[in-house]
Order: sequence, then C-alpha cells, then structure tokens
Amino acid sequence: MPKREFLLSPGPVNVPRRVSLAGAAEMVHHRSEEFGELMQAIDVKLKKIFKTKNFIVYLASTGTGGMEATVANLLNRSNEAIVVEGGKFGQRWRELCQAFQIKHHVIPLDWGRAVKPEQIEQALKAHPRAKFVFTQLFETSTGTAYDIENIAKVTKRHEAILVVDAISSLGAVPLETDAWGIDVVITCSQKSLMLPPGLAFVSLSERAWKVVEQSDLPKYYWDFKAYKKNFPYTPYTSAVSLLRELNESLDIIDEEGGVGARLCKFEGYAQATRAAIEAMNLKLFSERPGAVCTTVQVPTGISDKAIMENLRQEFQIKIEGGQDHLKGKILRIGHIGDVMAKDVLGTVAALEITLHKLGHKFELGAGSRAAIESFVGATVMTK
Ligand SMILES: *Cc1c(COP(=O)(O)O)cnc(C)c1O
Repeated sequence: MPKREFLLSPGPVNVPRRVSLAGAAEMVHHRSEEFGELMQAIDVKLKKIFKTKNFIVYLASTGTGGMEATVANLLNRSNEAIVVEGGKFGQRWRELCQAFQIKHHVIPLDWGRAVKPEQIEQALKAHPRAKFVFTQLFETSTGTAYDIENIAKVTKRHEAILVVDAISSLGAVPLETDAWGIDVVITCSQKSLMLPPGLAFVSLSERAWKVVEQSDLPKYYWDFKAYKKNFPYTPYTSAVSLLRELNESLDIIDEEGGVGARLCKFEGYAQATRAAIEAMNLKLFSERPGAVCTTVQVPTGISDKAIMENLRQEFQIKIEGGQDHLKGKILRIGHIGDVMAKDVLGTVAALEITLHKLGHKFELGAGSRAAIESFVGATVMTK
C-alpha cells in the first residue's frame, strides 16, 4: 500500500487537515448548550449549500441511509412512484421501492444517458396515480448530470413530489432547491462536502412535510418528525465529531467564496480533464457530463486495472473503474473534495505517462497541453 493515496474518486474524497483536526477536539455532550449552538451555526451555513430555507434533517448514516429514510418517511403503502434508472444509483431507488413494496414505474436509460424532462412528463401522464418522482442530480456510476431545473417544471405541473439524490453532487453541480421548487434533496458527507463518511442530510419542502404527516410506512430511528421536533438536537446521540468537521468544512467553503465559487472551480477541473481526455485520443463516456467525475471509455487493448494500478503505484493517485456491466469499460476520475488545479494538472500528466507506458497511441504531451490551455482560458483556478 502506498503511504498516502490521493483520492480522485467520486467519494470518498480527500479531507482537508483543518477538517480532520476539528473532529479531534475534546468531546462535548450532545445535549449541551454548546452542541446546540454548533448545530444552529451549521444549519445556517448548510442551507446556503442547499440553496434552501427548508428544514434539513441530519442523519448519522451514509447517503443510502438518507435515501431509505426518505422513502420510509414520504410514502404511503398505496402510493405509486416514477423511478429514473440510468445507473447504479437509480437502481438503488428501484430497489428501495421494491424493499418497501411500493408500486413503481421505471424509466430505464442506457447507462451514460441523461433522462429528458419529456420522459418524466410521459411517465407521469401514463401513470396518473404516481405522485412521486425519484431521480439523481448526478448519476455517479456513469458520470451523468440530469436536467433537474426542467424536470422540476414538469413535476410542478403534475403536482408530483420531486425527490433528488444529490448525494455526490450538491456543492459540485448547480442545484437551486427553492428557486426550482425541489421538494426533497439528499446529500451526504464524504463527497462534495469533503468530510469522512457517516453523515446524510435531507431537506424537505412544506409540501413534502405534509406528505410526511400521512406516511404509513414503518420507521423508528429514521422518523423525520422526531428530527424536526428535536432540532437543534438530534433525537438520538449525535455524531458530534463529524458535525464539528462539517462546521469546519462549511467555513472553508465560505472562505473560498461560497458555493458559487466552488461550482465554478469544480466545473473548471472537469472541463480541463475532458479537454485532456479527448486530446489523448480517448473517448468520454457520458452524454451529459458534470463536475463530480469524468467518465472515460477504456481504450481497446488496454486493461482498466493496469491503468488504475500504475496510477496508484507510481503516482499514489486513486481513480475508479466502472460498476456492474461497466466494469472494465470505463474509468471515473473524480474532481471533488480537497482538490486543487495543480492536482488536476498532475493527474493528467500522470495519466499520459501511464497510457504511454501501456502502449496507447497518442501524442505524448497533448493531454497536458489541452488541460493547460483550458486553465489559461478559465477565470477560476487556484482556490
Ligand atoms: C455515493 C452515492 C450514493 C450512496 O452513498 P453511500 O454514502 O455509499 O451510502 C447514492 N447516490 C449517489 C448519486 C452517490 O454518488
């Protein structure tokens, strides 16, 4: 094992030292005044990332816990739902509906494709009893961003509740929870918020809370009403250290110029990477890429494992491969977390050296040149 791995994975990501140190402070009691004040301060800052005034539920779980809790709190046994399935995480929505025996209608997509707002419209028309739409903002398994702004216009017209899994993408791909009218947004700690795994956050609109009141699915630990009632405390013991780390990470984001600056930064990294990929005679995989990670088709004759192993052994850089049927077919290069422009440039150069060594045909240096040119043309680079 290399001593230190630089994580360019779409989660978990590199955690700034400042954040880790905040978590190492002396323990406080989760019912103390001090802890209540910390939660109040966090909540003001996290709402700026969510772009919402809605109530946020703080869960001690990873992202999937936030997804399951959302299903358990929103739905009634008699409800029907529309599920967008364009990858591993859309599949998770389908499996959650199955687990709770919720009648659901899947919009199947070839992996790498983005759902079109018209497809949502058609599904809602075909299934007028379905008043819930479950989707991703960014399908991390394929590196694809969905057009949530226009999807929200459709769900509003049909008075359907829109549930967006923004687990990898909140703070990396634009999302306007209140301005676009999104009922439920879910995210977690170990992706764009650059924390260790272990926290999930769910924001719910007034409309969503009305639905929560009527839900009859079983839940106990995950009961959102208890979280609302107890705020700024959590109904059970809080993940104090992780929440302190969250507070620090939100301060860093503020110091960087807020979520807007952060979106620009990650988009710049993704653009530079995409330019480099194409200049290295490689093909992008997704039809609608976004700033969380770039997906690249593995060139024929070269193994994805050989590329990833060389990057890890020679450069201590960890990127990821594909999941399920995309295993061996794509590579996923993350851009989120504690990453700087110099890391993007270094990674492109390391990838060039690796591909050259493994016999891929391309002009050595072309990828780096394309990334450099992309940064020269960009306004945001260093932060
Ligand atoms: C990572 C991820 C999840 C799952 O999160 P866990 O923290 O592994 O439970 C869900 N949805 C998307 C889009 C993700 O990227």
